[in-house]
Amino acid sequence: MTDRPDHASLGEYRRKRDFHKSPEPAGKKQRGRRGALRFVVQKHQASHLHFDFRLELDGVMKSWAIPKGPSLDPAVKRLAIEVEDHPIGYNTFEGTIPEGEYGAGTVMIWDRGTYTALDAGDDPVAVLRRGYESGTLEFTLHGERLRGAFALVRTRRGPRRGARSQWLLIKLRDDDARPGSDVVAEHDTSVVSGRDMEAITSGES
Ligand code: MN
Repeated sequence: MTDRPDHASLGEYRRKRDFHKSPEPAGKKQRGRRGALRFVVQKHQASHLHFDFRLELDGVMKSWAIPKGPSLDPAVKRLAIEVEDHPIGYNTFEGTIPEGEYGAGTVMIWDRGTYTALDAGDDPVAVLRRGYESGTLEFTLHGERLRGAFALVRTRRGPRRGARSQWLLIKLRDDDARPGSDVVAEHDTSVVSGRDMEAITSGES
């Protein structure tokens, strides 16, 4: 079972999108990829502003939409709604999804980096997989704006596996915790291009 995880699939991602009309990558599952696991946080001005939080696992980016965005304050619990797996290639996507297409609006790469299991043991991926399946996923982010230990805790399951399950994203207490801070308000530019949402929308480079 650990060799053939069945939680990772890009079917729903592809069904929702027309890649002739959207600049988003069609992507594919990248099994057996070596090296550190990636994470990305994308600020997405769709019909409602939210932050998409994505963790690489088993060849896809497990994804959550966080309406208020992440926080470095351990007292803050942020609702994170699980959405469809995205391709790893999505990590470099920044731009505008055209009107009429799924998720229409501007996407900014707000943070990115690598992540590790908090309590890795000798098989970190198995630990993460188990955490995801059991609904308590603890990990350390090594990003530019988000660093240190976090937990994602599932509070309500969706109608089917993964879909629309509700989780909470919580900063765990460590040296990277910043009580009282509002990291989402502190940074309103792309960590990659330095552009703000307006510049990305208007296609400035
Ligand atoms: Mn989104």
